[in-house]
Amino acid sequence: SLMVAIALGALTDLWADFMRASGAAERVFELIDRQPAIPSSGGERPASVQGRVDFQQVSFAYPSRPDVPVLQGVDLKLAPGEVVAIVGPSGAGKSTIAALLARMYDPQNGRVLLDGQELRSLDPEWLRQRVGTVAQEPMLFASSIADNIRYGRMDATDAEVEAAARAANAHEFISRFPEGYRTLVGERGVQLSGGQKQRIAIARAVLKDPRLLVLDEATSALDAESEHLVQEALERLMKGRTTLIIAHRLSTVIGADRVVVMEGGKVVQSGDHATLMGQEGLYRRLVERQFVAA
Ligand code: ATP
Repeated sequence: SLMVAIALGALTDLWADFMRASGAAERVFELIDRQPAIPSSGGERPASVQGRVDFQQVSFAYPSRPDVPVLQGVDLKLAPGEVVAIVGPSGAGKSTIAALLARMYDPQNGRVLLDGQELRSLDPEWLRQRVGTVAQEPMLFASSIADNIRYGRMDATDAEVEAAARAANAHEFISRFPEGYRTLVGERGVQLSGGQKQRIAIARAVLKDPRLLVLDEATSALDAESEHLVQEALERLMKGRTTLIIAHRLSTVIGADRVVVMEGGKVVQSGDHATLMGQEGLYRRLVERQFVAA
C-alpha cells in the first residue's frame, strides 16, 4: 500500500484525476498525512547522480501513529548499480523503506543519503525525477495507453513512447488493440491484466530513465507468459541502475546482488542468497516456505 503513496508522489499534478479514478479513502489519508511534512520544491539539484544510497540508523513512525515504531535503527547501503532485494514477513517495514527512499516521509531519527547528501537537502521534485517505481498493482489513469506511458516523461515523442513500450515487452499487446496506443484504459476503456499493467508501468519507468529504481514485486501469480515477459522487461530496466526490490520470488532473491532480511522494523540478516542459506535464521525459513505470504 505504500507503493500507492510512492505512486502518488509522482502524480502530484494529476492527483485530482487519480482521486477520481481510485476513490480509496485510505489513499486520501496517506496523501494528507504527508502533505505538511514534505515541501513540493526547493533544495539542491545536483548536476549528476551516481546512485549510492545510505540509510544510517533510520527510525520511523507514521505521522498518524507516532507511538508505533515501524523502523528501528535501520542501516542499509546500496552501491551504484547494485540490486538489493528486501524480504521479510508482512508488516516488517519493507514498503516503508521504499517510501523513505522516494522521500514520501522523513525519518524521525537517522538519515537517508543519496550520494552522501541527505534527502532532506535535495529538491523533492528533482528527486522524484530520479527515482522510478514499479508497483505491484500499478495505478493507471483513465486515459490512453500512450498518455499512461508518457507520464514517465511528458515531452517524449510518439517514437520514444513506442521504444519504451518495446523495451517493456508491451508493444505487442498494445498493437493488437484496434486503436493501438490510443486505446483507453480504465472504466470506460479496456481492462488490462495484471501483467499488462505492470508492463505499462515498466514502459513509463524506461521513459523516465531514473538512476534509482524501487520495485514492488507482484505477490499474485501472473500467467506464465506474462510472468516471463515482465521478468525480462524488469531485468532490462534494472541494468545499470541502483535497484531496491521488495521481493516475493525465489528467482529474484537468487539473482539479486544482496538480500536484506527484515523483521519487526529491523534488518536481521544481510548477504547474498548462498551465504544466507548457510545460516540458521529467518531467511532460510522464508525460502523453505517459498516466500508464501507470511
Ligand atoms: P507487506 O509485506 O505486508 O507489504 P511490509 O513489510 O511492506 O509489509 P510496511 O507496509 O512497511 O510492511 O508496514 C510496516 C508497519 O507500518 C505495519 O505495521 C503497517 O501496519 C504500518 N503502516 C504501513 N503503512 C502505514 C500508514 N500509511 N500509516 C500508518 N501505519 C502504516
